Amino acid sequence: MSQSKQSSTPAGLPQEAEGREHGLSSIRNIGIVAHIDAGKTTTTERILFYSGVTHKIGEVHDGTAVMDWMEQERERGITITSAATTCFWNDHQVNIIDTPGHVDFTVEVERSLRVLDGAVGVFCGVAGVQPQSETVWRQARRYGVPCIAFVNKIDRTGSRFSWVVTQIREQLKVPAVAVQIPWGAEEDFKGVIDLITMKALAFDEDSKGADVVELEIPEELKAEAEAARNEMIEAIAERDEEILEAFMESPDLDANTLKRAIRRATISGELVAVICGSSLKNKGIQPILNAVVDYLPSPLDRPAAEGVDPVSENLITRETGDTTGLSSLAFKIAHDTYGKIAFVRVYSGVLKKGQNVFNPRTRKRERLGRLLRLHANHQEDVECLYSGEIGGIVGFKNVTTGDTLCSEKDAIILERIEFPEPVISMAIEPKSQGDRDALNDTLAIMMEEDPTFRVTEAEETGQTIISGMGELHLEIIKDRMLREFKVNANAGKPMVAYRETAQNKSDASHEFEREVAGKRQFAGLSLTVAPLERGVGNEIVVSVSKNDLEDEFRAAIEQGIEDGLTTGVLGNYQLVDLKVEVTSVSVHPVDSTDVAFRSAASIALREAIRGGQPVLLEPIMGVEVVSPDEHMGDVLADINSRRGKVKEMVSEEGMQHIRASVPLAELFGYSTALRSLSKGRASYTMEPVLFDIVPDDVKDKILIY
Ligand code: GDP
Ligand code: MG
Repeated sequence: MSQSKQSSTPAGLPQEAEGREHGLSSIRNIGIVAHIDAGKTTTTERILFYSGVTHKIGEVHDGTAVMDWMEQERERGITITSAATTCFWNDHQVNIIDTPGHVDFTVEVERSLRVLDGAVGVFCGVAGVQPQSETVWRQARRYGVPCIAFVNKIDRTGSRFSWVVTQIREQLKVPAVAVQIPWGAEEDFKGVIDLITMKALAFDEDSKGADVVELEIPEELKAEAEAARNEMIEAIAERDEEILEAFMESPDLDANTLKRAIRRATISGELVAVICGSSLKNKGIQPILNAVVDYLPSPLDRPAAEGVDPVSENLITRETGDTTGLSSLAFKIAHDTYGKIAFVRVYSGVLKKGQNVFNPRTRKRERLGRLLRLHANHQEDVECLYSGEIGGIVGFKNVTTGDTLCSEKDAIILERIEFPEPVISMAIEPKSQGDRDALNDTLAIMMEEDPTFRVTEAEETGQTIISGMGELHLEIIKDRMLREFKVNANAGKPMVAYRETAQNKSDASHEFEREVAGKRQFAGLSLTVAPLERGVGNEIVVSVSKNDLEDEFRAAIEQGIEDGLTTGVLGNYQLVDLKVEVTSVSVHPVDSTDVAFRSAASIALREAIRGGQPVLLEPIMGVEVVSPDEHMGDVLADINSRRGKVKEMVSEEGMQHIRASVPLAELFGYSTALRSLSKGRASYTMEPVLFDIVPDDVKDKILIY
């Protein structure tokens, strides 16, 4: 790629290593996020085509999309794995992560956002803001990722660009401002009007949209374009002194001044620029790439990486740049023909082939064997991955999702990625004894790749239980096992992954005393269990001074509590949202052992939970059903019969949008039921929202066995 090397670094900018092809300021790490079916994959395929990565446009509907590279994705037409890919546009290196829209794979979106600098939200021009787009925007805001919005499918009947802009503003509560308007709509959709340059852009059909033709704005659209431009300038001026002043002097603001102001406001989160087009019809794609380069931040525009010093545990930050100490985050693990690949984002310093890097979690150093730059369907070997880049490390053994890789002398632990708890589980067993080892190995690999997938063993039965984020999630895992790993296994019916917790504060003491192989073992302790807010997880505190308890016993107590928290007292479900505080210990100078403390802690914990009014928790899903008016009665009655609570109903052009919360336990087979209720015309999406207490009458049915 032709890109002039930045030979000298202007004063005040971070040092960049010799040999990097693209300076930090010309890197964009972006994600494309949206509700399922809004057109992310279709859009990404065009981006790859116009930027010269591919020579043919792949299509979702005929299963040739490059970004959807797993077999199952091609068959199901959805994007499961967020494949990373690099392309080049206007001398910028754009690293794109395509993210799946299905909620079962929300974890993919989450970990992408953690390492990205900016995002393009794709919206459907007909459906507007859909539930999953709300979820991803919330996630993006949580990570402070600046966004632009692309309103797709303007060619479809019923598309309404300005309505979608208003919806983005009102429903997502983001300062959306149109910087383009469509030229025509529905079947007359011709191209876009750029409000910054005040030109009309047409996309030549013979070249599949590759040739963009700049034209004068058609007479009949001039007034509308003027009005929209004024609205845009007003919105920018409200947020930018420089524009306000310049505008006072002369209303003819030049394109570069406007673009710089939009960039500033986008990066500070004060503005979301909205553009439009039709990916399927190859219209409006190059302007997305221009907007990515013009408005979305480079790694330099983002705050310094934050983390903690593994020794002092003090909060520290690391400035972006190649000459600061190495810090990089493994945000995804995958296995393919190369073996294990860790996808990393480099924040500071340079990852060099052959160099040793340090993982503060395992406290181990490991050599970097091979480094890759990632493309959608192939990988390129490189010598270095520089700060601000995203790439892959091949064959690194001791690394899991969320690990920091850094240099040992400048160690840092970057903030870990938080993942939601699995809500559904099923038993799985090998078809024959011969498949057992292969099954265990495969499950271990898949757990390593996917932090929302868990494998546990049921205490009583010894059965292997797999858990995940939804039926589809587990189905895909089963499918991959068979096809990719050739493991034969039988799976049971999906079951809800319940949890347990205690409702009241309660305490317990236990003295563990036992003769083992002629030697007395002793440990004593008291602890308190108290409920925490729903969804915060568990907290373990040992409030005993260092003088009264040596580190080894302290660790054994913590381990004992952790063990104890894996199985509750009602149905052996995991315990959550509890604070466990060890208040006192009794140590015998000779007879106390690790094992004794570990056991004492587990036993005391169980006792305390029993006394704290234990309850069963179940996952509750947020469900949105879109149904034609005439089936609304049946849909509502059905939601009621599933213990659902309707939260909101909005009517839009003959369709009812019903938002409800429904226990996951009642949602098995919902798609079939909804289809038959509505003669196939209603659709729905759902996502886990919280765990809530199971009502008594229902609990009694779950707990009999
Ligand atoms: P994703 O789930 O967000 O990745 O969406 P896809 O890219 O898979 O697109 C979903 C469906 O919408 C596919 O059938 C596409 O062909 C179709 N589609 C995507 N973009 C457009 C568009 O601009 N216009 C029309 N009419 N259909 C589109
Ligand atoms: Mg897709």
